[in-house]
Amino acid sequence: MTTSTHPRSQKKPVIGAATATDSHGGVGEPTLDLSTVSRELGRVEAADPGPTLICLGGLHGNEPAGVLAIDRVLEQIYRRPEGLAGRFVGIAGNRRALAADCRFLAHDLNRAWKPSSVERLAALPGPLGDEDEELVELNASLSRIVDEAPGRIYLLDLHTISGPGPAFAILDDTLQNREVALDFPVPLVLGLEEELGGTLASYMTAQGATVVGFEAGLHDDPGSVDRAAAAIWIALDSCGVFEHESRSEVVAARELLRRQADGLARIVEVRYRHSVDEGESFQMDPGFSSFDPVGAGQEVGTGRNGRVRAPRSGLLLMPLYQEQGNDGFFLASEVRPIWLPVSTAVRRLGVERFLHWLPGVERHPSRRQTFVVDRRYARWSARQLFHLLGFRQEGKAGPRLTMRRRRDQLR
Ligand SMILES: [Zn+2]
Repeated sequence: MTTSTHPRSQKKPVIGAATATDSHGGVGEPTLDLSTVSRELGRVEAADPGPTLICLGGLHGNEPAGVLAIDRVLEQIYRRPEGLAGRFVGIAGNRRALAADCRFLAHDLNRAWKPSSVERLAALPGPLGDEDEELVELNASLSRIVDEAPGRIYLLDLHTISGPGPAFAILDDTLQNREVALDFPVPLVLGLEEELGGTLASYMTAQGATVVGFEAGLHDDPGSVDRAAAAIWIALDSCGVFEHESRSEVVAARELLRRQADGLARIVEVRYRHSVDEGESFQMDPGFSSFDPVGAGQEVGTGRNGRVRAPRSGLLLMPLYQEQGNDGFFLASEVRPIWLPVSTAVRRLGVERFLHWLPGVERHPSRRQTFVVDRRYARWSARQLFHLLGFRQEGKAGPRLTMRRRRDQLR
């Protein structure tokens, strides 16, 4: 296929020698100035229509690794654009927080994407507060890319964490998200969106995009830039933005991530979130890493009311070792890989038509694809069954759960 690049060289941020080095040879000091970074970091596109991959970095301002990785991969593609069959666009998330080197200024930009508030903020006259302004601008950029896109839309949302541990991928469990996420040779984390709410990933999934989140490692580890860049190469390959005869970068990217994921669970589901309220102190005990097994009752930190214990056994995820943030830690359980093909099959069968026949389950009075589950009567493992069928929990009132079907694209 004949391809052409469209690097927008006038707008392209200045890229220094360190970010233009081979992505797997380690990094030097990044030379991209994060205080003046453009919303659109750059793009490459083929003449022919094809899928669009949007890579987003720095949705949290103290997580620049994604931005640096996007910059690096763009530069590598500018230099050798052959084999391109779609579009790749790099976007910066919370620019104001990136400039200030903090997670956020007023509130967390990755908890603000409830459809009603996105609409409300878009209609307000400016200027708005810091993250509100960021949300409106970012939403406008994403909408423009989506509107212009001739084919399928993919989003890779790049993050880093404050505690040690391997890289992993996060997804809202729709079949289309799963298809791409399974191509990443790292542990996959399901169910996080139910605990968080208002994430950009959930918002874009609901808009019909295929979305994978990627946690590349520690915030300030240069290796996190390498892993984020590896995730971008894999996404480019997996989404079909590069035609198949794999580029050496893609092969090296898979190898890099596979090595660091050796011996870890392939799929886990989040079962518990330790919430830290605004103004509350929480001190995680030192020495924990993501995917460390913990026992029920094990002491893991100190909170407002004294020592904090794990309420159940499981694998610890994302222990909080920074000032900002409302998630102390998560606990997850391993999901046996066999459940994935089983759940794909039952979703295709449309089993949810019969769910209201089950004890304790009724259709939501006004919302489509939504059920109310009363756990006093639904004795079986209701939440897990609904997850299997592609539902996510949207609300909880006492024993009653509201479970809503995600948008699977069944082919
Ligand atoms: Zn983040």
